[in-house]
Amino acid sequence: MSHSCVRGFAIGVLMCLPARGFPQSSITLASALEGRRVIEQMVAAVGGRDALRSIRTIVTDESIRRTSTGQGLNTRAPGVTQGRRTVWYDVAGQRINELRILDITGNQLWDVQRFIGGNAGTVVSWSSMTKDSMPVASLPSQRAAFARRNLLPFLMSLERRPPDAVRSLGTTMIGGKAQDVVGITDVDGAQLTLVVDRQTHLPTRIEQLAISAAMGDTVDVLTFSDYRKVGRLFLPHRRDESRSNETEWEYRVERFEIDTPIADTTFAVPGGLTQAAAPATNVQKLAPDVYLVPGGYQSVFVVFDEYVVVLEAGAGQGRNIIARIREVASGKPIRYVVATHFHDDHLAGLRPFIAEGTAIVTTADAKGRIEALARTRSRLAPDTLDRSPRAPVIEVVEKQRTFKDARHEVQLHQVGPNAHVDQILIGYLPAERILFEGDLLDMASGEPAAGGDDTADFARKLRALGLAFDRLIPVHGEMGTAADLEKSLRRGLARAKCPLGAERRTPCWVDERK
Ligand SMILES: [Zn+2]
Repeated sequence: MSHSCVRGFAIGVLMCLPARGFPQSSITLASALEGRRVIEQMVAAVGGRDALRSIRTIVTDESIRRTSTGQGLNTRAPGVTQGRRTVWYDVAGQRINELRILDITGNQLWDVQRFIGGNAGTVVSWSSMTKDSMPVASLPSQRAAFARRNLLPFLMSLERRPPDAVRSLGTTMIGGKAQDVVGITDVDGAQLTLVVDRQTHLPTRIEQLAISAAMGDTVDVLTFSDYRKVGRLFLPHRRDESRSNETEWEYRVERFEIDTPIADTTFAVPGGLTQAAAPATNVQKLAPDVYLVPGGYQSVFVVFDEYVVVLEAGAGQGRNIIARIREVASGKPIRYVVATHFHDDHLAGLRPFIAEGTAIVTTADAKGRIEALARTRSRLAPDTLDRSPRAPVIEVVEKQRTFKDARHEVQLHQVGPNAHVDQILIGYLPAERILFEGDLLDMASGEPAAGGDDTADFARKLRALGLAFDRLIPVHGEMGTAADLEKSLRRGLARAKCPLGAERRTPCWVDERK
């Protein structure tokens, strides 16, 4: 039997088909062949396979503009912040140094650096001067996501795909221009939609489903534009990152260097940083009837005689918190869950509570956002609220509210406006001298972040309210103490000497002893 063998860039191996006898009508084969044609044209358009293969190093320097409707001072205006991002990538050594310099609302420092090399990865949080090891199992997906966002490493990796990784999904129109659309399974297993301009054959976007009940059925989109010549290649100098058609991040490349030698020291984690301890994973009993649920978004719940009160249900935490409450307080209704402020990540775990009929206690300006969250529908990942929709019960705290029975007391204080957000609640347990807050002081890896204007204002309001505390539970990070707040304020003074994000070229060094 004779075979016709074709060799394709996207595949990198010989694919041999019997010359006769294969079903011409196979949609699978037709879409694989058409997908490969689109990829080959695209590779040629950006400079060709040989040019991509020859790359040894990549250095880019980008300006960042972040526009976030879910993270501003209030719901009327988005939060806008500026920063920079620099990437050093050693292709042969598979080493990455990615530095992001940014301030967020409240003048909080958000400088983060990632070092990935060999079989290890480290994240440096400059605001708390800590370093944290990345789980080894997460490295392949971290590398793949890095490659997609920077596009060039993604294009370079296409050669390593198996022959069945690409399918044509047809054509579409975007911005009045015809586009070829292919589906690709990425090296980390992610299902991507790659969109390529039919005229220029340059990639215009990479899309990925972002399935989450909290957001509904959404799509994350990387949009590539402003193509310019870089050596033998033709590469985008602008990338927009959006979700649900709302662009949050805009990156503009200001420096694009290929094959400039990079010193080995560039990939070494700097000294003078505190190594993070392994984060807690189990529910912790802070005091009789008072429990901490750890995680990327920490929560506290208090078991009253007749019911349970929860402080905060951050991103994706809702179901976990409810399950943990059932373990220690089964049979008691979860009557209240407190959402500290309207920022979308702090509301994202509320849906399971809405489905339970739990009243949401929050600020006035969060009300509309929570109602919208309750109306969100996911067809791809329906949750309890999708299956049994109901309107949320929302109780607004203007200034102060206290939950109290014979043996328990939880106070809520509205301490806005401040530089983070106009309205924000904090929790206070007077008998246990425990303070609970979100975003006003982060304790990444157990170290206090450099305080922004918001932290300084928070400290002033605590004094004015006379809220003396021993333990501080931040939504972000690990449990701290009153001394950590003082340390954060001292670090804030060091931080104030650094230029703002758009002007800063190196991470702000917030060592409070200097
Ligand atoms: Zn916030």
